[in-house]
Amino acid sequence: MRNLCVTYALGMLNVCLLAIGAAASPTAPVVDPEGAVMAEVRTAGDTAGLQVWLQGFRQRAAAAGISADVMDHALTGLQYDADVIRRDRNQSEFTKTIWDYLDTANAAERVSNGKAALAKRAATLQKIEDKYGVDKEVVAAIWGLESAYGSFRGSGSTIQSLANLAYDGRRGAFFEGELLAALKILQSGDTTPTKMRGSWAGAMGHTQFMPSSFLSYAVDFDGDGKRNIWDDDPTDALASTAAYLAHFGWVKGAPYAVEITLPKGFDYDLSGERVTKPVVEWQGLGIRQANGSDLPDFGAASVLLPGGARGAAFLIFSNFHVIEKYNTADAYVIAVGQLARMLKGGAAIKAAWPRELRVLTFDERIELQERLTAAGFDTLGVDAKMGPNTIAAVKAFQRAQAVVPDGYPSLDILQRLR
Ligand code: CA
Repeated sequence: MRNLCVTYALGMLNVCLLAIGAAASPTAPVVDPEGAVMAEVRTAGDTAGLQVWLQGFRQRAAAAGISADVMDHALTGLQYDADVIRRDRNQSEFTKTIWDYLDTANAAERVSNGKAALAKRAATLQKIEDKYGVDKEVVAAIWGLESAYGSFRGSGSTIQSLANLAYDGRRGAFFEGELLAALKILQSGDTTPTKMRGSWAGAMGHTQFMPSSFLSYAVDFDGDGKRNIWDDDPTDALASTAAYLAHFGWVKGAPYAVEITLPKGFDYDLSGERVTKPVVEWQGLGIRQANGSDLPDFGAASVLLPGGARGAAFLIFSNFHVIEKYNTADAYVIAVGQLARMLKGGAAIKAAWPRELRVLTFDERIELQERLTAAGFDTLGVDAKMGPNTIAAVKAFQRAQAVVPDGYPSLDILQRLR
């Protein structure tokens, strides 16, 4: 979807709207979820160039069924927006560790604001939960992370932002598709170009739907004939979020994860989302809940160590993967899941994080991948993203170095490679 907001790199992520009080608006670094190759940028970078590009785009949009009226209304007078382009290009500079991210995402103020929002919208959220079978607390948690419960929905013109990002061309095909989707929304009459506002990256409304996700999942829950995710009333936006989670298989009443302790001698090769086992097997290996209890059984599960062997450990269930459909960053999923848990009155994460570790910079992540590959631990590409192949390479290198193979790409690993 979605707000495409956080680029995750195993414990490091690009951060976006973590607004609590008067903090940032939803100014998200955008990541193409498909990981598409970013094209060379070859534009004049001014309004005249944008207008020339729009002439060509109008022909493609017309072929896709967008009326001339809708385009005249939405595309006339668009300006080159250097701020949008600058934000898009600077995204790799904003990185945080998962613990720094969670400090903000799960701050006490966000929990108390969430409880207040749940109370204020109790009847609506209950109706939504009843209809879609999605716990109201997880809907509220996404609302809380995406826009601080509607406080920071973004004030930029979605059409102008998407037109600029499509024109700029770095990820032109992706954003042209979103611009086309936005025009389809306008053609359907759900809103107007003036009211269609959101983040610089095209994410819109209370829960920061991208236009293509809106077309697939947004609902008119209050029955006024329009799917309205932009106005102060969050009803349609919250229902649309529940519809989205329901579509991907949310299991009502099940946790996204439980915090666990690992037994002495745990085989770290069993960690990571790629290894899935029945709960009874994890229990048999000596894993317990962080409070000492037996593991609850919510189906096949994996062990996740988002801060490496020295940070909190989680047993993750199918609902974890449903939240991933909103945003694939582990830190985002944990932030949403924990916030929902705390909105239900549950406990915060118990374990300490290795807070003395700092995040690797973009250049260091590139260097890590290059050095791993050169040393015979192939990361299958160099893109600064600490994905499954890089984690597997880090684990293999750690085993060769006889250190705990948790796959965490720390500065220590990079220094060992130098
Ligand atoms: Ca409506």
